[in-house]
Amino acid sequence: MIRILEKHVADKIAAGEVVDRPVSIIKELVENSLDAESSAITVEIRNGGKSYIRVTDNGCGIPSEEAELAFQRHATSKITTVRDLESIETLGFRGEALASICAVSRVELITKTEEEKTGRRIIVEGSSILENTATGCPDGTTITVRDLFYNVPARSKFLASDSAETRRIIDMVSRIALSYPDVKFNMINNNKKVFATRGNGNILNNIISIFGAESGKDLIPLESDRNGYVIKGFVSSPASSSPSRSRQIFCVNGRVVSSDVLEKALDDAYKEKLFHGRYPAAFLFMCAPPSKLDVNVHPTKKEIRFDDRYEVMDFVTEAVKNALTDREAVPRVMVQRAVSSTELLHERQADEVQYSFEDVKSEMTASGVSDILPEEAEVDIKNILSTLREEAAECETKSEACEKHQPILPQKPLHIPFEIDRLEYIGTLFNTYILASDDDSFYMMDQHAAHERVFYERLLAEYNNAEKSRQTLLVPLNFNVSAQVTATEELWLDELSSIGYDIEFFGNNTYLVREIPAFMDMGEAEAFLADMLKALEDKPDLTNRMSIDRIITRSCKSAVKGGDHLEDAEISALMKDLKNCINPFSCPHGRPVFIRMTRYDIEKMFKRV
Ligand code: ADP
Ligand code: MG
Repeated sequence: MIRILEKHVADKIAAGEVVDRPVSIIKELVENSLDAESSAITVEIRNGGKSYIRVTDNGCGIPSEEAELAFQRHATSKITTVRDLESIETLGFRGEALASICAVSRVELITKTEEEKTGRRIIVEGSSILENTATGCPDGTTITVRDLFYNVPARSKFLASDSAETRRIIDMVSRIALSYPDVKFNMINNNKKVFATRGNGNILNNIISIFGAESGKDLIPLESDRNGYVIKGFVSSPASSSPSRSRQIFCVNGRVVSSDVLEKALDDAYKEKLFHGRYPAAFLFMCAPPSKLDVNVHPTKKEIRFDDRYEVMDFVTEAVKNALTDREAVPRVMVQRAVSSTELLHERQADEVQYSFEDVKSEMTASGVSDILPEEAEVDIKNILSTLREEAAECETKSEACEKHQPILPQKPLHIPFEIDRLEYIGTLFNTYILASDDDSFYMMDQHAAHERVFYERLLAEYNNAEKSRQTLLVPLNFNVSAQVTATEELWLDELSSIGYDIEFFGNNTYLVREIPAFMDMGEAEAFLADMLKALEDKPDLTNRMSIDRIITRSCKSAVKGGDHLEDAEISALMKDLKNCINPFSCPHGRPVFIRMTRYDIEKMFKRV
């Protein structure tokens, strides 16, 4: 039932600009389709959505006599009282999206409910209804928005280039598609297919469809619940981080949200595992009791606020940390990319629909904006609608909001911790890789990366330790630096002294090293210092704390020598040190320390399975 909101209810709802750019229109339209319980949604755009947007769904449709009402401000079928606001579970609830959209564009609505024999076609331009006629059409709703801002040319000047607007739209539709794994999404740009999801609930499959096979690699499943909160999803292993948060997608109660709480929780879980400026990929699906959320903080409803942020942060950090101790955090050697994704699906979803190699391959081709498939020119609306209808027949799952949006994951992902002391030493390869195995996996460890990790964590420990343990040199070392480095002495000298060096200014840009950190040998101490000084010389901006951090971690690399033959005793000492590391999985620069092949991977290569 569509009703006009009472004035006080309407006022209570923070009104905001719904329409600022094409992406916000698409967001509203897609959310309406989702609220209408659609199981298949097609989004088409042309010219970054500026000239053409069409969203087609197979949802409940709008009853003929109510269709015109949908375009009135504060017309909504979703809310009637203030109390409803507190436990709102549908996506849109302000009843102003369609009204705002039709005020600045030419809109066509075609809709039909299951009960009615004929549907409605309504044409609205700049808020005036030009046509309202009966029409034959399938169940569901299609809204076409043409010529955005045709009547407010000043606004169109604020739009970015077609390709920038397109990127925004594809990014947003991808996020929504991921968060509704049981809804089938089709994204079409300038008549070409960008991606298509299957709507079979398989998130991993969707990640691959949308972001490509590479992104499905090295993902660790996680699942946890506490105090009415449930979280499921995937996070990347610390060995495959990225320079931005673009692969972090959070979904709370079926809604894609941004949340500093969830970002912080992730950062905490990866602390010591990743560097400044490196971010994990995370696809997190959370269910939280609606009473513990504030969804109305922002008019565009993107940012979510939790009543108890610390409770949520703690819960999520622990869930992620726990996932990261999993053996899956050791990167797998894959026989071949495409096969690997299929394998992952196989192993993780033995009881799910099985995918053929061809399936995954075609999804890979279909995924990503870069490799767009050539498609038939105009995509016929009748065709889309009838396919949608067929699909709807297959896909009948419609239940409560929370259940509905829960991704289908293996019931309990088997948590197999990675235990270094259970590794059995096999031998050494090329004086560089240590070979080992456990029950069903074969590992190669990069001894240089391992050593670097150990060195780095000792350095950090020393740094954080009030009592420095130093060793005094019989003969002090001396070194020369440029006047610029001398001038910024207070920045680096303190840092060096916090890790256990004792350095004294000797005059004339020369310094004397009297003591070195206890955990370093002479060679390491010298190499570390030399590299650090060199980096300081190269670095014009020494006032930046973060760049000094970076210089220190970089210098770990030079301090540790590689390619040396290690004696058995040295190998077991290295393994023991590594076991005590907070993050034994990767070196401080993110390169993996271990790689793993399962027995299955090996048998696969020998074509035994
Ligand atoms: P709101 O979503 O906040 O209610 P909108 O302006 O977005 O406001 O939509 C107004 C009304 O139109 C909705 O409440 C709903 O009843 C109807 N509607 C809009 N889009 C669809 C759709 N795709 N399928 C079914 N009903 C729709
Ligand atoms: Mg809406």
